[in-house]
Amino acid sequence: MELWFTEAHTKNVRFSVRVDQQIFTKKSDFQRIDIFDSSEFGKMLVLDGCVMLTEKDEFIYHEMISHVPMSVNLNAKRILVIGGGDGGTVRELLRYPSIEHIDLVEIDEEVVIACTKYLPNITVGLSDPRLTLHFADGLKFVRHCYNEYDLIIVDSTDPFGPGEGLFTKEFYGNCFKALTDDGIMVNQHESPFYAKDAEAMQRAHKRIVESFPVSKVYQLHIPTYPSGHWLFGFAAKGKHPIKDADFAAWKKLGITTRYYNPNLHIASFALPTYVQELLEEEEP
Ligand code: SAM
Repeated sequence: MELWFTEAHTKNVRFSVRVDQQIFTKKSDFQRIDIFDSSEFGKMLVLDGCVMLTEKDEFIYHEMISHVPMSVNLNAKRILVIGGGDGGTVRELLRYPSIEHIDLVEIDEEVVIACTKYLPNITVGLSDPRLTLHFADGLKFVRHCYNEYDLIIVDSTDPFGPGEGLFTKEFYGNCFKALTDDGIMVNQHESPFYAKDAEAMQRAHKRIVESFPVSKVYQLHIPTYPSGHWLFGFAAKGKHPIKDADFAAWKKLGITTRYYNPNLHIASFALPTYVQELLEEEEP
């Protein structure tokens, strides 16, 4: 007998993965948490029926959400990660010796418990002394932060359920206030391909453009996400994602990566025409 995990990418499109077994399932106060084991993708973390990460392709997401902003501000010392309870983003950030402190604000402790048990290669950084883990709503946490972070990474679920508040103008405005003058915010910016994801992307972009003087978008390719074509937002008070990147200094750090590299960094900001047009519709 075959066991398959299926995610509805739209009401007409489904993505299915044959799984060897379901190794965890729990309904937390915030969402349903499932972990499957599959021969194709390894272990898979699924929240409310949506694939968050798989062992096979998580490096793509976590390298691109971390190394793009870090190569633009290698002096970043204090960092706020909102969401990210799987630990992948923190794991990549901790490879920079210059980083002095990371606050990780994850709303659901059950995600951290499950990932620590079943995905230890991804949560490896959660015991680092530079990290403080807060179980809280990122929307509320950032209300009380002023001028204290060099980088904020919004590593959230999609804009429904607990993640909905992380796509609001209030949240982005508070992130702006929480950042230092060289501050950068990178956010999970959804996708341009399917209508629902594209609408979410446009809503987020409009609100970020209204909150930040620099608001760019870059792309990456995640096989297990709807359409595979995914976007991250790069917003800043002044830093430009390409002009201010110091690739020579980044290379000197000797950080080995499997997806990110300086050429790809530059190229990832070159977007398809239809994506540029969707974004420009939301720009003044
Ligand atoms: N998409 C990522 C990836 O591909 O690796 C994983 C994202 S991480 C699992 C998303 C996390 O955001 C979840 O653990 C969820 O509990 C958390 N989250 C959702 N809404 C939140 C909120 N308002 N504040 C803090 N964390 C939140």
